[in-house]
Amino acid sequence: MRLVFLGPPGIGKGTQAKILCQRITIPHLSTGDMLRDVISTKSDLGKEARTYMDRGRLVPDDVILGMVEERLQQPDTHGGYLFDGFPRTLPQADGLNELLSQINQNLDTVVALEGEDEILIERLSNRRTCGSCGAITNLLNSPSQEEGKCDQCSGELIQRDDDQPNVIRERLKVYKRQTEPLIAYYAERDQLIRINGVGTIEEVTARILENLPKEE
Ligand code: AMP
Repeated sequence: MRLVFLGPPGIGKGTQAKILCQRITIPHLSTGDMLRDVISTKSDLGKEARTYMDRGRLVPDDVILGMVEERLQQPDTHGGYLFDGFPRTLPQADGLNELLSQINQNLDTVVALEGEDEILIERLSNRRTCGSCGAITNLLNSPSQEEGKCDQCSGELIQRDDDQPNVIRERLKVYKRQTEPLIAYYAERDQLIRINGVGTIEEVTARILENLPKEE
């Protein structure tokens, strides 16, 4: 199964993507995680990417498409995958189509998770991420047992630089301007399913699973 998860920041794409990838055993390809890995190497590319991410802007399309092209060459992607946070612009969507046609692949489904701005802002400002294992928690809905420590690995829970209120507002603006048009793009191609992303984690997972096409 080859899937794309689309949706505004804070809708729970990362959380749902991780659950689904475990359930159907496909790799989780998050361009945000890939970029954060590049940043941690302190390379020139990482430093450049950081200047965009810290301001809530999108990293240039050619950088993203280069990273994705390289990732699709890894053998673990041959049986399917889930893209989380990619594509985020129309040129990225066209670029993905081109990459896939070169390797004779098609996307099966694009899942658009939807929710109101107020909920997104509340979730993002209360989101904490484990600096060691990447687990995501929320101070309101799923606080860790010990304050500031990850339940899974005891790593330190940190607030992402781009989860600060002024950056959150910018990311939402960028989403509406540059990413939301992809909903119409994939709807026109009959590849889109729309899912209400508001509810408990389990409720949203169940909605997604109910609506995914059944594998033959
Ligand atoms: P995410 O973890 O998906 O919320 O992404 C965090 C940040 O990484 C975004 O705000 C962008 O600055 C950058 N980013 C992630 N994926 C992409 C993408 N497909 N295109 C451009 N920038 C991206």
